[in-house]
Amino acid sequence: MKLYNLILILILFIKINYGSRIINSGNLFSELKDYYIPENLNYYSGGYSEENCKNASYITVPLGVTGGLDEGSLSSFLLTKKGSSLFIGLDAGTVWQGVRRLTMLQDFNSIFNITYPPWATLPEQRATWFIKNHIQGYFIGHSHLDHVGGLIVESAEDQLSPKKNVIEVGQPEIYRGCIEMLYKMGYIADFKNISSVPDQKKPIIGISDTLTSIAGDLFNGAVWPNLPLYGRYSYFFVGNGNQYSLKDLTPYADKYVSKVQNEFPFNQNVKSFEICHDTLTSTAFILTDSTSGEQIVFFSDTGISTTKCDWEYKILQVWRNVKIDKLKAVYLESSFTNDVADAALYGHLRPKDIMKLMDSLLENSIQTSPPKTNLKHVKLIIEHIKPQVGVNQYYLTSQRMVYQQLQEINNHGIKVIIPNQGVPICF
Ligand SMILES: [Zn+2]
Ligand SMILES: [Zn+2]
Repeated sequence: MKLYNLILILILFIKINYGSRIINSGNLFSELKDYYIPENLNYYSGGYSEENCKNASYITVPLGVTGGLDEGSLSSFLLTKKGSSLFIGLDAGTVWQGVRRLTMLQDFNSIFNITYPPWATLPEQRATWFIKNHIQGYFIGHSHLDHVGGLIVESAEDQLSPKKNVIEVGQPEIYRGCIEMLYKMGYIADFKNISSVPDQKKPIIGISDTLTSIAGDLFNGAVWPNLPLYGRYSYFFVGNGNQYSLKDLTPYADKYVSKVQNEFPFNQNVKSFEICHDTLTSTAFILTDSTSGEQIVFFSDTGISTTKCDWEYKILQVWRNVKIDKLKAVYLESSFTNDVADAALYGHLRPKDIMKLMDSLLENSIQTSPPKTNLKHVKLIIEHIKPQVGVNQYYLTSQRMVYQQLQEINNHGIKVIIPNQGVPICF
């Protein structure tokens, strides 16, 4: 082999390895490559940073990070607690493609310690196994396709049959994910006495508007087969401002789920809030850990609408339920950059709107004594950035524009994160 070829291979090796170590900690984004990596490197990106995750409680995995347009990366996040191997979905625009990226990460196993069946060696087998056995259920914030499309198209495979996977095949080495929970709950031991298999019905949780639309407009036998009818999912309706324990938003009987009520995700309480999103009602979910009190706020699409909906007032109701010292992360959309006019937002936000909301968060949340004066302990995860496809005088990606515009007015020191698909974030 010629020396020239050897050097090329060496450069490629270094580049791939460099890419593979990148984790989106959100601490430093001075270079474009920190959050917008070329496709080939991004595909292999990831890695577990002990430093960033050491004191963290949660890990979120972005499965899709853009709004509209890019059908390979539409709004969707997984959330888990450190040490757990169960995840909940927060919106589901893209699922399979994001999971596939995640399972390809070099350090994936040291982060989540996932066990696969011996037959699952291909990336597609592993991604599908992960979806079946590790996603406990989905919170859906509104019914737009870029928030539910992934759930719809992966639905045929989104079913774990313990009878097939545990009893018949018999794989005692798998003690992670949904199977682990089924053991802990006593389902597996009782299995011979259970006629139906409720764990096949993963919960889809949302407000009435959202679930009615998913059931009537998507899983309706015309747009897509009615899979919930065939045991794939069950709908759990939540009301505006009401609080629920996640263990009550599952298909498991209380005598089983009470055995794992102190484990993620069953130890989470959730409060749902209706928020404005142009012609439809969207949702924000506050998740509160029943033991530690730590909180996460997930907003599906929201913002300045062409309708009379008072978007700021609705968000104010969310902030009033946040304990500021317990807050770990806020997921908020920035679909557009600052130059887009109010009348063209159609229920979305820009960086300047977001930072105004951060002022409001600090002012209106439940404060400590003495009050907290900054948001340095909080991560702001920016979702739903629409790709830059038109003329742009700055020659920048919209990710970079949004990041810069947020940082210019980041008065409270909140840690701004522009997520990468499949790359875990700790907080
Ligand atoms: Zn959207
Ligand atoms: Zn939307």
